[in-house]
Formats: sequence, C-alpha cells, structure tokens
Amino acid sequence: MLARTDLRGSTLSTAMLRRVLPRGGTDIESVLGTVTPVVQAIRERGVAAALDYGETFDHVRPATVRVPSDRIIAARDSLDPQVRAALIESIDRARVVHSAQRRTDVRTDVVPGGAVTERWIPVSRVGLYVPGGNAVYPSSVVMNVVPAQEAGVGSIVVTSPPQADFGGWPHPTVLAACALLGVDEVWAVGGAQSIALLAYGGTDTDGTELEPVDMITGPGNIYVTAAKRLCRSVVGIDSEAGPTEIAILADDSADPAFVAADLISQAEHDVLAASVLVTDSEPFADAVEAAVAEQVESTKHRERVLAALSGSQSGVVLVDDVDAGVDVVNAYAAEHLEVQTRSAADVAARVRNAGAVFVGAYSPVSLGDYCAGSNHVLPTSGSARYSSGLSVQTFLKGVHVIDYDEQALQGVSGHVVALSSAEDLPAHGDAVTVRFGRAGAGR
Ligand code: NAD
Repeated sequence: MLARTDLRGSTLSTAMLRRVLPRGGTDIESVLGTVTPVVQAIRERGVAAALDYGETFDHVRPATVRVPSDRIIAARDSLDPQVRAALIESIDRARVVHSAQRRTDVRTDVVPGGAVTERWIPVSRVGLYVPGGNAVYPSSVVMNVVPAQEAGVGSIVVTSPPQADFGGWPHPTVLAACALLGVDEVWAVGGAQSIALLAYGGTDTDGTELEPVDMITGPGNIYVTAAKRLCRSVVGIDSEAGPTEIAILADDSADPAFVAADLISQAEHDVLAASVLVTDSEPFADAVEAAVAEQVESTKHRERVLAALSGSQSGVVLVDDVDAGVDVVNAYAAEHLEVQTRSAADVAARVRNAGAVFVGAYSPVSLGDYCAGSNHVLPTSGSARYSSGLSVQTFLKGVHVIDYDEQALQGVSGHVVALSSAEDLPAHGDAVTVRFGRAGAGR
C-alpha cells in the first residue's frame, strides 16, 4: 500500500528532491469562501454570530460562550484517575523542559555610556485553540498552556468546540486539563468562529466581556487554519500547521515492527496524514510493509490509517546509503523525524530540517506526543526548513532598549548625520545635531 520512490543511483539537488518526494498539501484557498463570511460575521455580530455558526457546524448552542467555573472544577474532580495521573506526568515533564527555555535579558555596552539591552517580554494575552471535532485533545491543552505559562503570559484563554454530547460545553477531559493547569477562562466555541472571536472579542449572552487576545496558537482543521490566516493582521498567529507527518530514516538494524507501528501511529490522526519511510535496504522496506499489513488489521482506526498510508503523501523512499537518506530527510523537512539506524545519535546530529527529531528505537513519536517533555505543536508541510515548534520563545517578544548618554551620542553623531544625508533624510541628522546646538548641520 505504500508507494515506492526509488532514488538509488541518482544524485538529485535539494530542489529536485522536494519535487519527487511524497508530500501532501492542504488547500487553504479552497475554504476561504466558507471562512471569510464567518470571520466577517463575528467581527460585526460577535457572540451571536459565533453561537449561530456553532449551531450549524457543531449542532449545539451553549447557554454562554464562557464556560462556568464550576463546570471546569467538576470536570477535574470526575476525571478518570489514570488519565489524571498521566496528564500530571505530561504537565510536569513539559514544565521541566519549557522552564529551561526561559530567556534572560541581555545588556550590551556598545561604548562607554551607550548600551543596548534586549528585553524578552511575554505577550499579554493569548488564546489557545484546542481542537474538538473528530477527537479529544487534552494533550494539546498541555502543549499550548505550559509554554505560555513558562513565558510569563499573564492572561490565557482556552477555546474548544462545544460538544452536543456534553450539554454544549467542551469535552470534560479538555476542561479537566485546563483545571489541572490552573486555567479558568475557557470558551465553548470551535472552528473559524473561535479564531475570529479570539481576535475581535465580544459580549457574552450574560453581558460578560470576552476580551480579544494579542496572539492565537494551537492546531486545528482546515477551517481553523484558514481563519488564522485571515486574522493574522489583527492578532499574532503561531503557524499554519497542516496534517501531521512522520518520516523515518532507518537501516536494516531497525526492527520492522517498531517502524511499522510508528508509521501507523501518525496515519491514525487524519486521512491526509503523511507516513514516509526512507531506507537504504529494500529487504528492510519489504519487512516493514509486511509488518504494516499485519498490524493495520487490528488497529482501531483501520480505514483512516489505510487511507493515509495509501495516499500520495505517504510512501517508501529507497536510497543508496544512510548519507543519501540524510540528504532526503533534510530536503523533506518532516514535522516528526525518527532516526532508527546504526549510530542513530550521530546520524541525527546531521539533521538540519525537522520539527522534532526522535533518536533510536526507544524514542517513538508517540512519546513526544504526550510525555517526553518536548512540545508536540510542530511545523508541517516542509516549513521546518525555517520555523520551529511551539516553545516559550513563541510567546516572547524581544524589545531593544537603547540607552545612550550625551557623550556617547556625540561620539557617533557624525556617522548618524552622514548616513541620514546618504538616505536624503536630513531631519534624522538634525534630530541629533540639535542636541549639540548645531541644528541644520545635517543638510
Ligand atoms: P477542530 O476543532 O479543528 O475543528 C472542528 C470545528 O470545525 C467545528 O467546531 C466546526 O465549527 C468547524 N467545522 C466543521 N465542519 C465545518 C464546515 N463544513 N464549515 C465550516 N466549519 C466547519 O477539530 P478536528 O476537525 O478534529 O481537526 C483537528 C485537526 O488538528 C486534525 O487535523 C489533527 O490532525 C490536528 N491536530 C494537530 C496537532 C498538532 O500538534 N500538530 C494536535 C492535535 C490535532
């Protein structure tokens, strides 16, 4: 079922590799016609429009958008003890990793009396979208909230679709995860209407103000992604994350059953998910295919997995050796890359482009999805070439603070005047020379 791309004996440039490697695509443009009126309606009619769209797409209309605090607490108190323990472990590990990412301000004394300090300031208020259409994602609550909290974001609102089965409130496990993280502002609104309401704010049915946010992060389906694109000029947006991807670079030292299980695990997300094996061993590729065929029969979401694995975005890529495989995975820039080769750590150290790299047989992507401590909100569709996953850094703004005294400014004034003249912006020079009683000297 996995199509094969045979690159043995060929030497392709990076650009050519990108053209021939299996890759999916999410056609955001195709839903802009649906999503643009939603965003426009929320901007004009706020909560009333959000509730109308929720009724259409989620088939339920909650009494208020803001989830009452007692609902959130009740969800925490009735959480399955095993899920509670797992969520707490996931939160603790994510906190250890993300707290270590905090940046300190950097002061540089450029000249005596002249300093530039780079201050790292958290975004004031963020909206974190937690999907809730086909599945429940309490792990996404953890992966969004923990870095925002560790960055020092003062105000956090979580939004998630209203669920008809739960009285129009978000799924209880999502609410419980919020409670465990100390988040008490949760809105029951999903899809494009959720993103627009976060961007523009509104007044709830009981008169409560829903304050707009400064930035929105979090994964979601194509409608969510399109709304993020449309709201990008109004608020900060993390990224446009598409369907999930796994690439596995493996040689014949790897266990075909492990590799097959990992390919299936990501195909389970979505029919558009991509699972790609890159290997220098054809017998190993055959063994993985056999293991996939066997395991897929007993997997719960068999149809979805088969659709994802047989899609043009998935496949096996045959290469001459592991070195050529490294070139392939660097060109592909997967959201998740596993390296299951001899000397896996050395091979992984040569990877430049990937959202996250999982080293060796005992670091599967599923570990990173939940409990490694790393973040699972990662760049897709090749954007790992130039962007990063969610981290504390996502929620920080670097601000340069310039502090020169009179002497330090005078010392460089001639250069400022020269450059302002070169750019034909003489008032810039004047703004310096006026301080030294020589206004007009910049002309
Ligand atoms: P979702 O919450 O993103 O979308 C559900 C919402 O879509 C609904 O509330 C509804 O308002 C809207 N919607 C549904 N049909 C619509 C239509 N025809 N027109 C307009 N709006 C419509 O949940 P989902 O659909 O389950 O998608 C979740 C996505 O997030 C999946 O693709 C999954 O792979 C991805 N995901 C990614 C990560 C990550 O970290 N990369 C984590 C979790 C989930």
